[in-house]
Amino acid sequence: MSEFHAKLYEARGLRTVAALQKNGFDALYVQTAAIAAEKVLEFVVSGAKVGFGGSYTIKSMNIQELAAKKGAIILDHNAPGLGAEKKMDILRAQLTSDVFISSANAVTMDGMLLCVDGNGNRVAAMSFGPKKNVVVAGLNKIVANLDEAYERLKAYASPLNNIRFQKPNPCVTQGYCADCALPTRICRAYLELRRKPGLSDYTVIIVGEELGF
Ligand code: SF4
Repeated sequence: MSEFHAKLYEARGLRTVAALQKNGFDALYVQTAAIAAEKVLEFVVSGAKVGFGGSYTIKSMNIQELAAKKGAIILDHNAPGLGAEKKMDILRAQLTSDVFISSANAVTMDGMLLCVDGNGNRVAAMSFGPKKNVVVAGLNKIVANLDEAYERLKAYASPLNNIRFQKPNPCVTQGYCADCALPTRICRAYLELRRKPGLSDYTVIIVGEELGF
């Protein structure tokens, strides 16, 4: 990243953090994913039940493994070898976890978060339930406003997640959302957080690097 990009991204990150704070979120800007991981792990204590929303950002930061090392009880619905019933049990347990760690699909410079899920587990936990929500987003997810956030979903986040999960949906071959009506559609439950949900404790960490999609 050039020094010019770094300066622009930091300005954008700080502006977004200020807007998030104005909208009731605890929010901070850090320069690197490594610092962000340290901040996230400050909320994880031994014996805490920690849920994960299935985020590629969080996976790339190795937070699940680091939380397990701290003695947390990991609620991972994507753990290998889980049967359907056990997976549902874990998804439900995440809703009452001590800490729920996820990313958003877009964060706006006016301080809002936009997410879309196939099953709705992440957006449910991001609305209400866990004692603490921690959201980490790289600068590639920052957009001007909700219109741009929905555009980001259609152009990048959703097609890339379809590629990641090897879905046979048209966005994979067309490179852009076709608003499909297929049973394999992964874009089903949309959540706009225009302000911090009233009863939730939230920290949003904006990172000065590209993370996830
Ligand atoms: S609605 Fe369908 S085509 Fe559009 S991004 Fe989602 S899965 Fe792909």
